[in-house]
Amino acid sequence: MTAPAVTVLGLGAMGSAIATRLRDNGFTTTVWNRTAAKTEPHVEAGSTAAATVAEAVNASDIVLVVLLDHHSVREQLDPVAAQLKKTVVVNLTTTTPNQARETAAWAAEHGIHYVDGAIMAVPSMIGDPSARLLYSGDENGYATAQAVLETLGTTEFTGEDPGLASLKDMALLSAMDLMILGYVQAIAMMRTAGTPAVETAAEVEAWLAAMLPHGKELAAIVDGGTYDTGGQSVDFDRFGIASLITASREQGIRADFLEPHQKLLEELAAAGHGDSDWIRVIERLTIH
Ligand code: NDP
Repeated sequence: MTAPAVTVLGLGAMGSAIATRLRDNGFTTTVWNRTAAKTEPHVEAGSTAAATVAEAVNASDIVLVVLLDHHSVREQLDPVAAQLKKTVVVNLTTTTPNQARETAAWAAEHGIHYVDGAIMAVPSMIGDPSARLLYSGDENGYATAQAVLETLGTTEFTGEDPGLASLKDMALLSAMDLMILGYVQAIAMMRTAGTPAVETAAEVEAWLAAMLPHGKELAAIVDGGTYDTGGQSVDFDRFGIASLITASREQGIRADFLEPHQKLLEELAAAGHGDSDWIRVIERLTIH
């Protein structure tokens, strides 16, 4: 069976890595980039450059879109909707879940097989199993493109809701962001005692590694839904967090990252949930 032809729209850092990987794996690649000069090294390496998006999408039945954001994707794809009919479009551009759903609805109107993707990797990881790529949307479209997508890293089809891949990506990135803020807080506090940042970072790493497995126990309480397991309570935790905030300020360090947690715990206590498992804070996150 001959390898399918693939078009890559967008040759920024990520699109370039993807086009290179596909070419190295024997796929016939057509590339397009707004700034045409970026196609030159790819043409030298064996890809075909398309002068327009229309020309690029006509060249292949599988089109990978690796542009900056949702706006740039729609700006480039909307005018070629008719040419994309029956094509598998895999949008690897980072978008929000609702943006993915919006593009999927547009694609469905035009008979396009739309798969939304989220890349959990940096360009240098593309092609390595450590690169995790999430996909959701048109399952048949995913199956058609699977052999292509599997060359980019470890793939996971998260479901037919086109927003799911993005949702998981954003959820995991949120977890990372909040965890890194923890590093920042600890480093800021310990710097007041002259401890170098790298030393505190190593301590934080060991501490978090020991604590992380308990996350699953908290998750089980959330799934249980009653918050009455007798674990660490809202009242216990709100005094704990108050100490952290006070200690931080005593050292001349702002506690802005910690204050939202305290606020949620105080809300729970005020609502009569002081005895609940503290993880009940998750219920306060829902916007009503
Ligand atoms: P770059 O900034 O390197 O490249 C952006 C690309 O988008 C360029 O090809 C640029 O074209 C193009 N572009 C921007 N605006 C428009 C527009 N209006 N019309 C047409 N093309 C446009 O970004 P990356 O390649 O790093 O990222 C691409 C996507 O991959 C992003 O959504 C990013 O979030 C995602 N991603 C990137 C990761 C990374 O580590 N780099 C990690 C995970 C996801 P031009 O060359 O003409 O400016």
